[in-house]
Amino acid sequence: MRIFGKVRHRPSASWRQATDRAFTLIGDGRYEDAGALLTRAADMEPWLSESWFNLALLHKFRHDWEQARAAGLRAVALLDREAGAPDWWNVGIAATALQDWPLARRAWQAYGLKVPGEGSPSGEPLGMALGSAAVRLSPEGEAEVVWGRRLDPARIEVLSIPLPSSGRRWGEVVLHDGVPHGERTILSADGATRAYPVFDEIELWAPSPVPTWVVLLEAASEADRDALERLAADAGFAAEDWSSSVRLLCRTCSESRMPSDEGDGEHLDPHDHSEPGHPGPLGHRTAGSGSLWVPERECGIAAPSALVRGLLDGWVADSPDTREWRDLEEVC
Ligand SMILES: [Zn+2]
Repeated sequence: MRIFGKVRHRPSASWRQATDRAFTLIGDGRYEDAGALLTRAADMEPWLSESWFNLALLHKFRHDWEQARAAGLRAVALLDREAGAPDWWNVGIAATALQDWPLARRAWQAYGLKVPGEGSPSGEPLGMALGSAAVRLSPEGEAEVVWGRRLDPARIEVLSIPLPSSGRRWGEVVLHDGVPHGERTILSADGATRAYPVFDEIELWAPSPVPTWVVLLEAASEADRDALERLAADAGFAAEDWSSSVRLLCRTCSESRMPSDEGDGEHLDPHDHSEPGHPGPLGHRTAGSGSLWVPERECGIAAPSALVRGLLDGWVADSPDTREWRDLEEVC
């Protein structure tokens, strides 16, 4: 049909069939077969933005960023809608994966986000001030939700210390998807509740050179434990008391709106480690909740090997009667 000279195309029945079938195949992980069908669908309706959007989506699932960018650009060229199109968001993700910064900036702006003019010399769209968020590492495998700082709409710098089982490190930068799966709420000191999205990781964007250590602490009080976390942070690295910062959540709870620590604006604990089932009506144990302080703590440290022992010794030296450490081991 023709409206004011503009042709609006309805996709044919065979386009719909091919596309539906392709998404079923994608659900089964059969990307090759799905790609053949979506390519056929795009041949049938090349003027339809959706044809290219679907192909771009498939290439995103396959982490084939060159192809995702190419298909995504065809999709946005055919859009009849101004801001807020997910097509642009996916172009932004592909461009970020490829470090195509001019295109990434264009994509976020076209989506309707403000991108500060300056950025870094490379044109990286930094300075968007998107705040904190959580990201689910390895969403398909042994998932772990960690906290981080959003660098831009598609990247988070991990600021929790991931558990050794994740094989991941503090300081990594992760490329993540646009649609959140879950939320963490934090009650701040002024009584307001802030909600933070939980994004799913797509892939590692930049590795971290800083190894992870596990150590057993004897800390007579919470203040002793806090002192180590502060010392590490002051040195430019991190320590995290896993005994209180990690809780186990089933997939359903992890992907829903869950209260997190009361928080003081800086501590965004706990992070969540996946657990197979929901443990009945009482729900999940909250790490360290309602119990007396236990001096023995299992603590993660993210610091270079040249620094980690000195950090621990310095912590003990500040209060030898209340602090001890042992069994330091590099785990990741
Ligand atoms: Zn649950």
